[in-house]
Amino acid sequence: MKQAIYPGSFDPVTLGHLDIIRRGSRVVDHLIVAVLVNSAKSPLFSVEERVEMLRHETAHMPNVEVQSFQGLLVDYARMTGSAFIVRGLRAVTDFEYELQISQTNKMIAPEIDTVFFTTSLNYSYVSSSVVKEIASYGGAIEKMVTPYVAECVKTKIKMQMEEQSYEQH
Ligand code: ADP
Repeated sequence: MKQAIYPGSFDPVTLGHLDIIRRGSRVVDHLIVAVLVNSAKSPLFSVEERVEMLRHETAHMPNVEVQSFQGLLVDYARMTGSAFIVRGLRAVTDFEYELQISQTNKMIAPEIDTVFFTTSLNYSYVSSSVVKEIASYGGAIEKMVTPYVAECVKTKIKMQMEEQSYEQH
């Protein structure tokens, strides 16, 4: 069985991510979308919330599974029996970073290959951080995420703002 793993922060999942998931799931038998537990970043959503949003958006894709993982990506890939790592490339700026990571992973785990999907043109400007930035100023994010995720982001940001104003008083 051909299996791949698509790792990322997905904070939150965007239409760009979903496009890669859809296309990635067509070239393998099974695709594991893996939410990275990264203590270095301070995310808007908890890992559980990110997994839940991804599961909601991929429920109709029978060969897609959503999990979270901690530690080295290649260890997780090996543990799950995944021969490929899927990553998306938006612009040249992604390239240098992705190349370095994929070469490092190849050195640690030569049997695992990284496969890149170039972004669909209409999603090339979409990123989780842009979604969060725009939403924090009350801007429209409906062209970048699904309606369900847009609701989750708005609710979360509203909650955060309420907490902040509570702390200030
Ligand atoms: P990370 O923190 O690991 O970069 P992200 O959730 O930001 O996690 O991204 C996960 C993967 O999805 C990366 O390979 C990234 O390049 C890719 N990606 C993010 N946004 C898009 C997009 N709009 N189109 C295509 N690929 C994307």
